[in-house]
Amino acid sequence: MKYIFGNWKMYLNTQQSIDLAREFAQLVQDGDGVEYAVFPNTLAFYDVAAELKNSPVATGAQNVGWTPQGAYTGSTSAFMFSDAGAKYALVGHSERRHVFGETNEDVRKRLEASIDVGLTPVLCIGETKEDRDADKTEYRLKKQLLKAFENLSLNGNRVIVAYEPVWAIGTGDACVPEEAQRVINLIKQEIKQYVDTDVPVLYGGSVSADNVVSYVSLPDIDGVLVGGASSKAESFMTLINNAISA
Ligand code: PEP
Repeated sequence: MKYIFGNWKMYLNTQQSIDLAREFAQLVQDGDGVEYAVFPNTLAFYDVAAELKNSPVATGAQNVGWTPQGAYTGSTSAFMFSDAGAKYALVGHSERRHVFGETNEDVRKRLEASIDVGLTPVLCIGETKEDRDADKTEYRLKKQLLKAFENLSLNGNRVIVAYEPVWAIGTGDACVPEEAQRVINLIKQEIKQYVDTDVPVLYGGSVSADNVVSYVSLPDIDGVLVGGASSKAESFMTLINNAISA
């Protein structure tokens, strides 16, 4: 297992974000062999990045605007996040796609903007419950991957994919680990068509301290993207301890 990422969504204010970042940084060590990152809200980003400087925990943006600078009220660009110390950017998170109506085309622009400024994008893909019920999981994932990766130039940058079934996010209805392993294996095969470097694939969707080991012990699952359980000190610290001692 190589990655434990915490998406704090819009759960924490600035002081809570700084406090949780400090606790996280005290718990983990460079030699763990794990890449750690948190994704605070935009307002808290700068203080959290400062708190985590010189720690094993990186900081990422929850979403990035694709134009570096300009008349885009309410947006914060990939360029600005990079300037403020971001290493990663979530791109195409389910809540961006389904609450804010972002399309595969928007996702592609955010992906390219992240790569252009040297951020490592964490491309989130996943099927809805309707897709799953209609047996369209593979169709949906292949389409999202095609739109994201076709003719994409990585320019030597890394990219990470997170498989996050929409029906599993924030619901407590986590994907059965063996099914996540099967789908992630399929995603890895599909990505090989487009990218000739190794692309780590994480699982996300109601990961908790209790179930994290069942995901990270499977061969194709390179780590976890954790939402709700990463926003509370007790559940997140227990989750990390369980994952790294597995
Ligand atoms: C997420 O926000 O990416 C996520 C997986 O959320 P949760 O862990 O709360 O399901």
